[in-house]
Amino acid sequence: MRSEFATGSDFATGKGRTMDFDAIIIGAGVIGTSVALGLSRAGCRTLNVDALPAAGYGSTSNSSAVIRPFYSAMETCALAHEARHQWTRWADFLDAADESGFAEYVECGILVLMGEGDKERFAPSVLAMREVGVPFEYLSPDDIRQRMPTITLQSFGPPKLPGDPAFGVANETPLSGGLFIPEAGYVGDPQLAAHNLQRAAEALGAVFRFNLPVTAINQPDGRAGGILTASGESVSAPIVVNVAGPHSSQVNALAGVTADIAMATRPMRHEVAHIPAPENFDPQHGGCVIADGDAGVYFRPEGEGHMLIGSLDPECDGKDYVDADEYNQGFTEQWTRQVWRTAQRFPGLGIPNTAQGVVGLYDATDDWVPVYDKSSLPGFYMAIGTSGNQFKNAPVIGALMAELILACESGHDHDNDPVRFDLPHLGRSIDLGFFSRKRDSHTEGSGTVLA
Ligand SMILES: Cc1cc2nc3c(=O)[nH]c(=O)nc-3n(C[C@H](O)[C@H](O)[C@H](O)COP(=O)(O)OP(=O)(O)OC[C@H]3O[C@@H](n4cnc5c(N)ncnc54)[C@H](O)[C@@H]3O)c2cc1C
Repeated sequence: MRSEFATGSDFATGKGRTMDFDAIIIGAGVIGTSVALGLSRAGCRTLNVDALPAAGYGSTSNSSAVIRPFYSAMETCALAHEARHQWTRWADFLDAADESGFAEYVECGILVLMGEGDKERFAPSVLAMREVGVPFEYLSPDDIRQRMPTITLQSFGPPKLPGDPAFGVANETPLSGGLFIPEAGYVGDPQLAAHNLQRAAEALGAVFRFNLPVTAINQPDGRAGGILTASGESVSAPIVVNVAGPHSSQVNALAGVTADIAMATRPMRHEVAHIPAPENFDPQHGGCVIADGDAGVYFRPEGEGHMLIGSLDPECDGKDYVDADEYNQGFTEQWTRQVWRTAQRFPGLGIPNTAQGVVGLYDATDDWVPVYDKSSLPGFYMAIGTSGNQFKNAPVIGALMAELILACESGHDHDNDPVRFDLPHLGRSIDLGFFSRKRDSHTEGSGTVLA
């Protein structure tokens, strides 16, 4: 497996040394596999190492995989809208076969329901979409009812716990309508998307190893030099990338790089309910993704006659920060309250006796914006803090990280002169300093997974 470290990329250090790989990527979720593809396309020999048995088995497998450009900052909106372009031409983008088939992107649109105060609250997102060129329209309550006859547009907000006597009591003023973004939707099988990216990277020579936890980051000359695995194996590479999802802070601790990280990452537990959908909620009948801030939930069609319900993290719920290695994987009252909240919107909704769905972990930052950055240790990089909202960006994060990494390895001072990343489909570029580990919290965000 040994190969001469020479990739065509003019890295500042390590050139000419004999290394096992050019880059080791810790994690093979949808972001880790994308980083493998991005670096492979840039000419690097990569190795992904994952503790789990296959690509996308971590938080990726629990993803609701909603694709939408509704973000409160231009950078995040633009990234999502650029990535959507790749979802619409997924097989072409991958340019490689996969014996398991390809993940399917369903473009059914997203409806962001609006009530009192939402015009002001959503102003930054509307501004960002206008700047990026995302098409959207305002729908009146009648427009919405015509599209979804079983929905009620009474307002019950702000979201409450089911035990609150005011839960389910309608406010005097109903919702005012919604903002509909047609170029949005969801990917039905997020794990398959990670597998697709793995196969595309492998077609270019990338190597993947599973069931192999990384236990140390080797640092032979004051820079990253490879990894040590739980089996005692040492693998060398001048570049190591932390894409460990909810374990990202543990991997940063292994590398000893936490001191200059202002935007820490923490695992946050989330339950997603799968229940029978209201009648005609499927995309063929106008069903779409709905973000319902008034009820504190988002939901979307999921398979034949089903829907999936996730949380918009309303304040009354608190935050369920957990240990990524030891947390409750069963359903709790979180599942119940999400279903009850959705039943406010669809009064005819049947509530099953048995809870079904998934329990997953976000790798959360305080401002819900990810960290795509270098670190204080030369050669060690991170694509972390994906905060429950970066599945959609996976197709572009690989190229983004490759550009950032290759620039830094060529001596670019990214901390002081941030790299700009081109979004060719949108014909614009973004400042990657926006995703810095050293940033103060971005304040214009929604304070929720909508970011
Ligand atoms: C419930 C839920 C709903 C979501 N909904 C959406 C949505 O609607 N839209 C959206 O855009 N995003 C959504 N997300 C977020 C999205 O799924 C994540 O941002 C994305 O999947 C993260 O991918 P990843 O590759 O960074 O992490 P992961 O998929 O978690 O992969 C990390 C991998 O690293 C491995 N690893 C960790 N530590 C080590 C180690 N020491 N050694 C070896 N391997 C290690 C793990 O085994 C794991 O496989 C949601 C997430 C969850 C949990």
